[in-house]
Amino acid sequence: MERKKLLMLNPIEYEHKFDKNALNVVKKIPGLKSVFRKKLQDYERYETVLNTGSSVKVTSTHFSEIHDILKEACANIHLNYIPEMYIGSSLMNGHSGWDVNACTLGYDNPMILLSPGSVEYLTPDELLCVIGHEAGHIKSGHQLYHEMINTMSYFGSAITQISFGLNDLLENTLNQSIDYMMNYWSRMSEFTADRAGLLACQDIDVAINVEMKLCGVPPKLYDEMNTDEFIKQAKEFENFKNLEKYYKELVELDHTHPWGVIRAFELLKWIESGKYHQILDIHTECELEELKRTCMKCGTKLNKDEKFCGDCGSKPEIGNCSKCGANLLGEEAFCGVCGERLWIR
Ligand SMILES: [Zn+2]
Ligand SMILES: [Zn+2]
Ligand SMILES: [Zn+2]
Repeated sequence: MERKKLLMLNPIEYEHKFDKNALNVVKKIPGLKSVFRKKLQDYERYETVLNTGSSVKVTSTHFSEIHDILKEACANIHLNYIPEMYIGSSLMNGHSGWDVNACTLGYDNPMILLSPGSVEYLTPDELLCVIGHEAGHIKSGHQLYHEMINTMSYFGSAITQISFGLNDLLENTLNQSIDYMMNYWSRMSEFTADRAGLLACQDIDVAINVEMKLCGVPPKLYDEMNTDEFIKQAKEFENFKNLEKYYKELVELDHTHPWGVIRAFELLKWIESGKYHQILDIHTECELEELKRTCMKCGTKLNKDEKFCGDCGSKPEIGNCSKCGANLLGEEAFCGVCGERLWIR
């Protein structure tokens, strides 16, 4: 299948609004970054030691076919930064290695970790989708906040991280709600990453099948998997009003709930909104110069000399990436468009 390289794809164009809204709340937690700065470094080092000591690295000469899939995923969603990738299961929180699963570790030097199960049970196209999902987390700068959550579970909950100088009960309540807010955001960030996965594999059936396999369908039933039936099941969510409220409740029920069905539902809704196909069209029809600017508030593509966004009226100011020229929010570790590293601690 011929797939397009979505040049100058800006994550703002496809980020899910629940993800953006929840992250804005998390970003407003006072003192969050400064409290975590040192601990994050220690935690990233710990993860790196554990991962490189227990997993097998995928390179252009070792498991080269899988490495080619990684390169294609990054190229398709325009992430010039090719993260290191490993196969292993020691750092898969609460999952068996033979589950279909993947995650990204670290944020300064993000590394993708594939479970043995995902290599064994996914087709190459499905693997492209899963790796595209992980590359999407990196592209959106999710790793900083994902790592804060992982750091919390390693060093103890936020309770020991942030002290507001209040009495114990108040502090406890406040810190529990910080944990809650961050975990809620983390779930919502999956919707964005799923869109990146689809943009990488560019095949709706493949992306839906991945969600089905993530739900835990056993390999002996793979031949009988019916994408249309699963889509029908996912679409039943249309009957529920105020889904955001349910999703908030799901933070606590996460492990028991068929999360993959909801993710498929959110993905289908996005496809039906026309945005997915619009992105495929815009990023292949336009000249490179025309693709450089994006409204950092609503994701609309802007003309070269537009002073304000025609859709939401906001000003596309802030900085530019020195490598690709895309406009930026100014706080990213990587340029969300080309993957250029913007700052090193
Ligand atoms: Zn994810
Ligand atoms: Zn706008
Ligand atoms: Zn760039």
